[in-house]
Amino acid sequence: MPGYYIWTIGCQMNKADSERLAGLLDQAGLQPVSSVDGASVIVLNSCVVRQSAEDRVVGKLGSLKALKRARPDLVLALTGCMVGSEREKAALAKRFAYVDAFLRPLEFGPLLDIVAERGLGGDVQRDCLEMAARPMRVGEEHAVGLDLDGEHDGGIPDALDITPAKWVPVIYGCDYMCTYCIVPFRRGRERSRPLAEIVDEVKGFVAGGAREVTLLGQTIDRYGNDLPGRPDLADLFDRLNDLAGLDRIRFLTSHPSDMSERIVRAIGELPRVCEHVNLPVQAGDDEILARMRRPYKVDEYRRLIDGIRRHVPGASLSTDVIVGFPGETRAQFEGTYRLLEEIGFDVVHVAMYSPRPGTHAARSIPDDVSRAEKKERLRLVEELQAGIARRLNQALLGQTVEILVEERSGGKWQGRTRTNKIVFFADERDWLGELVPLRVSHATAWSLQGELVAEQAPAPGAWRARVARPAPARGAAISLRLVS
Ligand code: SF4
Repeated sequence: MPGYYIWTIGCQMNKADSERLAGLLDQAGLQPVSSVDGASVIVLNSCVVRQSAEDRVVGKLGSLKALKRARPDLVLALTGCMVGSEREKAALAKRFAYVDAFLRPLEFGPLLDIVAERGLGGDVQRDCLEMAARPMRVGEEHAVGLDLDGEHDGGIPDALDITPAKWVPVIYGCDYMCTYCIVPFRRGRERSRPLAEIVDEVKGFVAGGAREVTLLGQTIDRYGNDLPGRPDLADLFDRLNDLAGLDRIRFLTSHPSDMSERIVRAIGELPRVCEHVNLPVQAGDDEILARMRRPYKVDEYRRLIDGIRRHVPGASLSTDVIVGFPGETRAQFEGTYRLLEEIGFDVVHVAMYSPRPGTHAARSIPDDVSRAEKKERLRLVEELQAGIARRLNQALLGQTVEILVEERSGGKWQGRTRTNKIVFFADERDWLGELVPLRVSHATAWSLQGELVAEQAPAPGAWRARVARPAPARGAAISLRLVS
């Protein structure tokens, strides 16, 4: 059976897209393989939100050139945010002539055509392919910005892996036009998936063993704006909260202008919705926010945080910040610094601004903060945040927390608390997929170590034994419900 290999870099949305593609390739009759050597089809799912991410994609493409020369029958495709308009595709084709297909995010049809034409796999139902591969905004065919979810590498887990935690895209694209950001150009206008379709998909995942879902969207709190009857994220939470077998519901990424009190209350009231909110602030200065085209003021953001803390006791908070945005004075940066100090986020994703070709900021706003100054601001934020995170995490020492065990690496089991804290623990038994109680024994700014509270722990191996039975597969049939 021909094999496929998908390499993924970037945010969770990219990883979710890769899972969707894997499902389609499964359905076409291919099988996942763990390295490029055994693959007949190789797909790189790219990210260009930072120069470093783009450099890695280019490096990966370069490393595959010799393989493609040695095996001309190999199908090599590039997808993700590096691929934009037809004009940009033509430029990529010129630069990487050995690549067979360039696909915008979720534009998987042309790849499946090649797979069928070359006799590597059968046809798959196509009506699902059009939903996200919609055209970009007319006249706006450039890109880039900051992926504030950070960079990840190494591909999605081997497609044969089993996991109790699934990603579920619920709204695609973005209607905001932050001046530094690629997403609206690469992923298009907002499109929410019908609520019933999402619920059905999650039911399928739960039947396959999932205990946790993370609902994904660039602006997750705008979910439903474009749907008949305008259901919102709170309605979706409510429906999913009723699903037997689903223990945890997470969601990413929220926009401060759309996080309504109704949604905040739902987070606090619905037992399966986890108490963690990622709410990118980007800057702690109104003038910089306006220049970024972020339509809120710092004081409004503060009030929102107050509301979350009031309605969701014990909530953990994370945010994204850009330092050295064009025109950001030292005093304006200090406003951001003070805001971070005042709120005390559990996690801050901080990035130095770098202009990305085609964005409004890159075209029209001179990048006038020196690199040395940006690095200094980055250092200051990182230093501040390390102290805050260490203090917050150390407050958990001796407490019992519950994690969902998601993987084992370096000889330790690893999972997250409801508040999204990563906790490691050592035990030789099989805890994958279990909700286990751990007493926190060590805390750093970045993670926790814990000891199993044996008397409260479930039976080891139970989850794996349950999911080992035939069950709905990750991907295939589920992917086909994307567009109904
Ligand atoms: S809200 Fe702004 S930063 Fe976020 S995806 Fe949309 S345009 Fe990009």
